[in-house]
Amino acid sequence: MTKGTVSGVIANMVTIHVDGPVSQGEICYIETGGDRLMSEVIKVVGSDVYVQVFESTRGLKVGSPADFTGHMLEIQLGPGMLSKNYDGLQNDLDKMEGVFLKRGQYTEPLDTEREWDFTPIAKVGDEVQGSDWLGEVIENSQKLKIMAPFQMDGKAKVKSIQPAGKYKCHDVMAVLEKEDGTEVKVDMVQHWPVKFAMTNYKEKPRPFKLLETGVRTIDTFNPIVEGGTGFIPGPFGTGKTVLQHAISKQAEADIVIIAACGERANEVVEIFTEFPELIDPHTGHKLMERTIIIANTSNMPVAAREASVYTAMTMAEYYRSMGLRVLLMADSTSRWAQALREMSNRMEELPGPDAFPMDLGALISNFYGRAGYVYLNNGEVGSITFIGTVSPAGGNLKEPVTENTKKVARCFYGLEQDRADKKRYPAVNPIDSYSKYLEYPEFEEYISKKINDKWIPKVLKLKTRMQRGKEIAEQINILGDDGVPVDYHVVFWKSEIIDFVILQQDAFDDVDAVTSLERQEEILNLVTEICEKDYTFGDFLEVVDYFKKMINLCKQMNYSVYKSDQYNDFVAKIKEMLASK
Ligand code: ADP
Ligand code: MG
Repeated sequence: MTKGTVSGVIANMVTIHVDGPVSQGEICYIETGGDRLMSEVIKVVGSDVYVQVFESTRGLKVGSPADFTGHMLEIQLGPGMLSKNYDGLQNDLDKMEGVFLKRGQYTEPLDTEREWDFTPIAKVGDEVQGSDWLGEVIENSQKLKIMAPFQMDGKAKVKSIQPAGKYKCHDVMAVLEKEDGTEVKVDMVQHWPVKFAMTNYKEKPRPFKLLETGVRTIDTFNPIVEGGTGFIPGPFGTGKTVLQHAISKQAEADIVIIAACGERANEVVEIFTEFPELIDPHTGHKLMERTIIIANTSNMPVAAREASVYTAMTMAEYYRSMGLRVLLMADSTSRWAQALREMSNRMEELPGPDAFPMDLGALISNFYGRAGYVYLNNGEVGSITFIGTVSPAGGNLKEPVTENTKKVARCFYGLEQDRADKKRYPAVNPIDSYSKYLEYPEFEEYISKKINDKWIPKVLKLKTRMQRGKEIAEQINILGDDGVPVDYHVVFWKSEIIDFVILQQDAFDDVDAVTSLERQEEILNLVTEICEKDYTFGDFLEVVDYFKKMINLCKQMNYSVYKSDQYNDFVAKIKEMLASK
């Protein structure tokens, strides 16, 4: 393997003079004062190589030796990752004292001594290719597949496979014989370079299956789909984290992966303390049983922060290869982009807008492109739904990270300071936010079958009403209550009904927090009925009084237990009010 000698140090950027071939992205270790610092090659210029060190380079001297490994930054994928807290380099943070590793310390990512109940799927003589399912183990009630090596090219025959029983992750579970006669020993662990997309599937069609989240402003107004992408920009304190927690808890996913790139160390510590408390409404167990957290704080070295989102995505791809539905969340991708910026600035690259790297758009787009709904080679399906938050400085949505993300993410949930100040939670702006899936014919077809063909037209109509309501609110603001006709007040209050009854939802109320699709449909129908009615009123005070009562009844109905007598009672009262005006 190639060796080198440190010739310069600028913060985490180190130049190394090398004696042999080195490739872009290769991992090397630099020796200093008894520590071995892990680093990644980011630029090769002749026999001078620029590397970024994943650690503090304090005390690192010119002349220190470096060993190149010949492989990219890769992680281990196998059973035993669920419920774990890792950092961006897949160090197991639970094995550490506190949240931080000491310099030069790397931990074993999987429990090599733990035994797994294995059941074979493949038989001797079967023809297999890379990523094919050979067997199954169960972890926290999730069925995980043991697969043929992802990197194996060509076909192979199963020469032997272990019978059902208990095995450790590095035991040989199967022996495959390739066409050229070479043997491949397969254990439960895969290796994958995190910056490369896994393309071990047959087809990646446009996603179309509604992913229920129980959050009305998402499911009813701007639905996300299994394998879809979305992003949540919002200034500090507008509810990004609360919304992400609600989605992680409630969305129909087998595996949840959280890439926590916090602004501050305490935000990440918060995740470690809050997440394990969350209860999975689907099973009543802890949500952590099917969750992995990849955590970074801004005081970790920049290169480790940059790696974390890739590590999280690679784990998501691993589970997708097993035919599982993965939900991946990154909070916030702005921290990732800032890490990219710091690195590119240190390399003195020609900067793009706001000093971000020139290829920021491509990096963001490639990353979002790794999500998706796929048909695996064996005909099964798997998905990665990706939702990232963006924390634009000063709430400025014109900054490069937001703009570039907007180009690739199909759902946009813009959190608004003004709505948060008014406690209209979730503070998702109903006018600017969107879901492009509403325009997909595949989605329309799916919804027509799953719910009915009136659903989407109804939703679009309510969106127009929200827009109209906002315009009228602005006019009332300028001209006063008496300055606009009574009809205008009616239109405004119809939009308030939509807002209060559908969009606003208390994430901390047991009943309100999750709304089933069935109930969302009923509420949509009811609100539509209220909005479609022509009303006649004497003056605007009468309008206000009527609609406030209506909102109250609808909200109570919304809260009451599904299909209970109480519920029917409220509906009856609403119908009565509708009949009277
Ligand atoms: P951010 O992550 O954007 O900084 P948070 O998600 O921490 O903001 O939210 C800030 C506060 O706003 C929460 O602590 C909570 O009090 C309130 N909040 C946000 N969303 C909701 C919601 N859906 N229901 C009730 N309260 C909310
Ligand atoms: Mg937050």
